[in-house]
Amino acid sequence: MQIIQPEEASGELIKSMERGGVNPRLQLEILKLAEFHTYPAPGVLIGAFMVDYAMDLLGAKKGQKLYGVCETPKCLPDALQVLAHITIGNNRLKVVPIGKFAITMNPPSEVPTTEAVRVYMDLKKLKAYPTIDIWYANSKEFDKKTMKGKLFDEIFSAGRNILSSEKVRVPVRKKSKWESVTCPCCGETVPDYLIEGDHCGACGSLKYYERI
Ligand SMILES: [Zn+2]
Repeated sequence: MQIIQPEEASGELIKSMERGGVNPRLQLEILKLAEFHTYPAPGVLIGAFMVDYAMDLLGAKKGQKLYGVCETPKCLPDALQVLAHITIGNNRLKVVPIGKFAITMNPPSEVPTTEAVRVYMDLKKLKAYPTIDIWYANSKEFDKKTMKGKLFDEIFSAGRNILSSEKVRVPVRKKSKWESVTCPCCGETVPDYLIEGDHCGACGSLKYYERI
């Protein structure tokens, strides 16, 4: 992972966005997103157009409360977090590791299921952008060293033109009541719905550290 060098990296990025005709508002959001992600990964750049497109389809205003699902843990979660404030921490973001470059977004709802918009990478449309096409396919033909600039230019000139959308129905996530339970193994507390039998996850299947 590389840390973004503001002057150099964002300078190139801005030039590429200008060439592609990206609107100034989205340019600013993309710069914020690249900084948050620590570098302008192609996936987050495309993610910015996905979130922007989905918000337009929903008629959502900036700052409006929205929920989202992201079908890959790579790059896309950051686009939802920075552009739509759908975050892991506010519990409005769900990441499903399906491995597709797609997102679903919806406004809050009081009923058990609600209409959402799903935006996905459209492989047919991608054929018009050969560099994005080989990058997306993880093809050996894509040479990161020599083709990165061309990839950025294609991403910014394509914008939404490589995306498609569909209306879908999703379950509405509800907050449930919970009680605090003390784990007899470690003595720390967890919400009752996360207890595994009689112990906490860290003393069970979610154990990830050894005390030293
Ligand atoms: Zn425990």
